Parts: sequence; structure tokens; C-alpha cells
Amino acid sequence: VAGQPAAAATPTGLSLSRFTSHAAVVQLIERTRAEETVRRVLELERPGDLPDLVVQITLAPAGPGRRLFAIQDLRSDAALERRRRSFVANASHELKTPIAALIGLLDLIEELPKDAHADLLARAQRNAHALANMADDLLQLARAEDPDWRIRFEKVDVGAAVAEVCEELRARAEAKGLALCFEGPAAPLTLLSDHGAIQTVARNLISNAINYTAQGEVQVIVTKESAGASLTVRDTGPGIDPAILPQIFERFFRDDPAHSRASGGTGLGLAIVRNLLGRIGGRISVQSRPGEGSIFRVELPEQASRPLPGAGLAQFR
Ligand code: ADP
Repeated sequence: VAGQPAAAATPTGLSLSRFTSHAAVVQLIERTRAEETVRRVLELERPGDLPDLVVQITLAPAGPGRRLFAIQDLRSDAALERRRRSFVANASHELKTPIAALIGLLDLIEELPKDAHADLLARAQRNAHALANMADDLLQLARAEDPDWRIRFEKVDVGAAVAEVCEELRARAEAKGLALCFEGPAAPLTLLSDHGAIQTVARNLISNAINYTAQGEVQVIVTKESAGASLTVRDTGPGIDPAILPQIFERFFRDDPAHSRASGGTGLGLAIVRNLLGRIGGRISVQSRPGEGSIFRVELPEQASRPLPGAGLAQFR
């Protein structure tokens, strides 16, 4: 690595600077002491239709003030097959949880007297909704990752598109006693992009803000930027522990699975967001501290065909 220009290509096809800014890589470098030698296999998701990277990283001391940083590309059929199996196993487990609950509740309805039925039926209904959410999100993720999916270039008024999503979710926020505030640009702000993808990104971020916030408000702001537009979703929720922040965009990752499930979450929302942003040339950053709420900021290019630098990647502050 020493002496290599930052833009030099690594064996993985990513420039060195892009590679070493990957959250998982940064974390490994930061957590390894200068005198330590570590070897770790990392699976790194990449934006758009690029296949995931499976790399082995070696960090070792290399003389005074120098460290060795070696990257070995492990992409092989075996590694990809392992990843596919783990995805299928995770998805099956996630589907089995509400199915098992449904079966148990239906058995109980048969056994228990009529006055217990209303409660059991309400619980069965919640599990049926969880199943429907999981099926929807699995389909959306498959679509976002489908290399044959091409965006439909269309004129999208991004302020109007996001305002529509806010209206769709307003009742849910109000049912929890939360204020949902939308602020958009005064004049139409048009991008050449994909209307459905932009609404899905907004829907996932705003739903999360509502789900994880117990009191206060959710603020949604669309602003014109020199390179296109930005969408900011700010909440007064619990915030996110910095130790897990780099993991929240991974498929099926949840800090508190019980809370996520109870509020209709699948653990796939942010993975869908990141993949869709890769497709429409946008990027996302998260600023969050425990106890201080969270701010998710999406940047979108004027034309989806001209992606912003770092499209599909997430940054953490
Ligand atoms: P989920 O369906 O569980 O919400 P996501 O992929 O959308 O899945 O989010 C992954 C995890 O990130 C959540 O389970 C939660 O731990 C955390 N998270 C996402 N958004 C927020 C937020 N606005 N406030 C606090 N935690 C959040």
C-alpha cells in the first residue's frame, strides 16, 4: 500500500480510497493496535448490480511507523454459495417466527373459551401482517438487487413525491401522538430519476423514524442542492449506538429484534434503501447519538444516470 496513489485500483476493482472508506474496513483498522497482527474475512456489499466482495484482510506491523494492509480477493463460488445459503436461512427463520405464532394462536382459539378469542385474533392478525411485510420486503430487496432491473428515467417532482409518502404515513404518526412535519421546496424540484424508488426510500426512512420514536416529532425536509436534491429525515427517538451504526444497512440486522418486529419491521428496510440508492445514483449519511435522536440524509443526483461519488454507500457521523 505504501506509496500507492489513493485512486489506484485494488485487486477487488475498487479504488484504494473507496475500499479503505468502507465502514467494516475502517472499523477493523481502528480496532487493531499497531503491534497486532490480524487476519479477517469480510463480506462487503457493493452498490448497484456489482456482486458482493468477499475479501481476506491482513493487518500487521511492518517496521517503525509502518503497517502492512493486505487484501486478498476470496470471491469464489464457494464464498458466494455460503452467502446465498445464509440469506435463505435468515429469510426462512424470519418467516417461520410469525408462522409458528399464527399456528399456536389458531390452536389456542380452538381450546380457549369465546371471551379469550378477541385478544387471540388480534395477535393472529398482527402476525399475519408481519408475514405480509416480510414477503413485501423480500420482493423489494430482490427487485433492488436484480441486475436486469433498469430504472425508468422519468421526471420526478421530488418534493411532491415525498409529501405524498408523508400523507400516507401521517395517520400512523398521529396514532402514536407524534407530529409529522414536512418542509418542501417552494417551486417544483424535478429530477430525472425513478419515482417509485424515491418513494420507497422515503417510506422506509420515515416509517423507521415513526417506529423508533416514542415522543416528539419526525421532521422531513426536501431541499434543492447544487448537484440535485436532498431528503432529510430527523427524529427525536432513542438514537443509535455508534458500535452498531455501521451494521444497520445490513440485511436482517436489528438492534432490538423484538421491538423491530412489534412495530412491523423486517430488518430489511435500510438494505433496500441502500440498494435502491445505488441504482438511482444517490448516497446516504446517518448522524445519530444515543439519547439525541437520528438524522438520515439522502442526496440524489439531478440525473440518475450520473451517479454522485460514492453512490449506494452509507456514511456515519
Ligand atoms: P427494521 O425493519 O428493523 O426497522 P431497518 O433495516 O429499517 O429494519 O433498520 C435496521 C435497524 O436500524 C433497526 O432495527 C433499528 O435497530 C435501527 N434503526 C433504523 N432507523 C432507526 C431510527 N430512526 N432510530 C433508531 N434506530 C433505527
